[in-house]
Amino acid sequence: MPNLSQLLTTKAKPEHLRLFNACKDLHSQLADIDNIYVCGGYVRDLILDNQTEDIDLCIEGNSKKFSTMLSERLNLGKPHESQFLTFKFVGGKGKDNVKSIDIVTCRDETYPTPASLPDVIPSSIDKDLNRRDFTVNAMAISLTDQHWGDLIDPSNGFGDIMRKRIRVLHDASFIDDPTRVFRAVRYATRLGFNIDTHTTELITNAIGNVDLLSGTRVRHEFEHILKEPKVCEMLRKAEDLGLLGAITPALRVGPKALEITSDLLKESSGDLQLEDLLARVTFGLNTDEAKLTSSRFDGPKSWTDSISGNAKLASVVGILDNPTITRSEIADVLDDIPLQCIRAYIATGSTLPRRGRLIDYLQTIRFEGPEITGEDLMAAGVPEGPIIGQLLELVKRARLDRKVNSKKEEMDLARSRLPEFLTHDEDA
Ligand code: ATP
Repeated sequence: MPNLSQLLTTKAKPEHLRLFNACKDLHSQLADIDNIYVCGGYVRDLILDNQTEDIDLCIEGNSKKFSTMLSERLNLGKPHESQFLTFKFVGGKGKDNVKSIDIVTCRDETYPTPASLPDVIPSSIDKDLNRRDFTVNAMAISLTDQHWGDLIDPSNGFGDIMRKRIRVLHDASFIDDPTRVFRAVRYATRLGFNIDTHTTELITNAIGNVDLLSGTRVRHEFEHILKEPKVCEMLRKAEDLGLLGAITPALRVGPKALEITSDLLKESSGDLQLEDLLARVTFGLNTDEAKLTSSRFDGPKSWTDSISGNAKLASVVGILDNPTITRSEIADVLDDIPLQCIRAYIATGSTLPRRGRLIDYLQTIRFEGPEITGEDLMAAGVPEGPIIGQLLELVKRARLDRKVNSKKEEMDLARSRLPEFLTHDEDA
């Protein structure tokens, strides 16, 4: 069994090493903890010399007691406890603390039906590693005094890291859990690895099962891909494996969509909004495709808006080329279009004059409004009710079209039109 204590000492960050040493001490003090391991992505990234912040600890024994003791020892605060005896600490109190620690009880899993959530029972580290997605994620390092640094690697994940290979642990893996197809795409692209031939065949055979996943699970996995720095490469790989079509046949990511997504990544300084990414990767979907895709993701309004807004804009954007269009009419056309879709359209390098008008809308028009308020109108004697809103809208349009340029001119306009609005109101 290889021992990675040297790697732990030289490559782990000081705060991580402090945590691991605390684990070692606690193990020697607590009789009902058999073993403590750091496992999964942390081990993979340690071997690859990649920086990682999230630490997964696997406990053989009383993980609740261990979490309490660890918290006291490192001043981590109260953990968030969730299903299957899992405890999470996020951003511990001390400034030198680890950003995210997940403590789980070693477990075994069975899938009652394909693509369902698994049944879970406490178990050993070997069983726990055997339930994992890929060999490169199925390794653990012991943190006890007696076995400090021992690598537990039942499926030769170390060898697969050396061969740069993503490989599943058993043939039913993607049938049990089709979210692993998304994960295969993510790890292969992120790490620059190949998906091994047999694993690719298994993906091809199980791709239809992606359809069994709930909208929430599919959306969650898609979002993980969108948040990766190599999102465009991942989407290409997902397309090659038939994954996009398996999410819904309506979803395709065309060359223009990839180009403007890639531009967004190049221009950003790490402050990317999910809505902008969504609007760009789904650019080019027609109204029906957008509708089917949004419904498959079953997401919040921001998802539906971002996916459907492009087709909506495409259906009205031609109006902006009208040479006599006014600024208030531009607002009429664009007020219902999500801003991320306007930004996506501009990014395609659209031509003048519509481009200038889209930019004008984003930079100025959408912020402009009247200086006068409803209170000002009421103070001037306008009766409370819908007239207030109608007059403010009239003044807003006049302001956008530069027909009035000061608060006084706005009020004069409102006063001059008031009788006509009152007459309408009486007629109604
Ligand atoms: P990342 O860098 O993407 O966060 P990670 O390996 O830490 O990588 P997580 O999603 O945090 O990934 O999951 C932690 C570990 O849990 C993984 O390394 C893997 O061993 C296991 N795991 C997560 N999801 C699955 C799954 N769907 N099927 C099997 N094992 C999984």
